[in-house]
Amino acid sequence: MQPLAREVAELPAADHGVCIRPVSLRRTDITTGATEIIDVPCESTLESRCPACAQRKRSLRRTQCEEGWHLTSEPVVEPDPPSEAQRGWVEQRAVITAERDRLASAGATSAEDLAALDAAISDLDEEISASGLRGSVTRSAGSSSRSRRVRSTKRRQDAPDLPKRPITRKTMATRGTMPG
Ligand SMILES: [Zn+2]
Repeated sequence: MQPLAREVAELPAADHGVCIRPVSLRRTDITTGATEIIDVPCESTLESRCPACAQRKRSLRRTQCEEGWHLTSEPVVEPDPPSEAQRGWVEQRAVITAERDRLASAGATSAEDLAALDAAISDLDEEISASGLRGSVTRSAGSSSRSRRVRSTKRRQDAPDLPKRPITRKTMATRGTMPG
């Protein structure tokens, strides 16, 4: 069986440290509209895919290690302590939530009163978010219902189709056809 022409062509390329799977990009000048095809190296890190690029990448990584680009220890992210205001909002929310739950379970209050308290709680939630705290109070503190909420990822049939972006030639570069 004869070897594939492409494989024969790849051999000297690899021997000379040239990428054997260059990617053709079409570069469009967005002011003039002129396009040109340029070949860029595939930048693969896999020897089996492209020996030249893999070797270049490996020596780059080695240089980076030698120059101390890598961290010597794992980064530790410590959140800042909460501010007075943040603490205040969360405490106030806890007080109102407890009061709301007490009134609701006693059954001695009107729906309007409960709705007003719920509105106050959601206002406080907004203040809490605005104060810069991450996440929500109920989730991090563990709400009464601990079961995970499961949502379907199926597309809703009652929703209209999402608008499609028209294809324009504004991009700086597009992936062209691979050789072979
Ligand atoms: Zn390559």
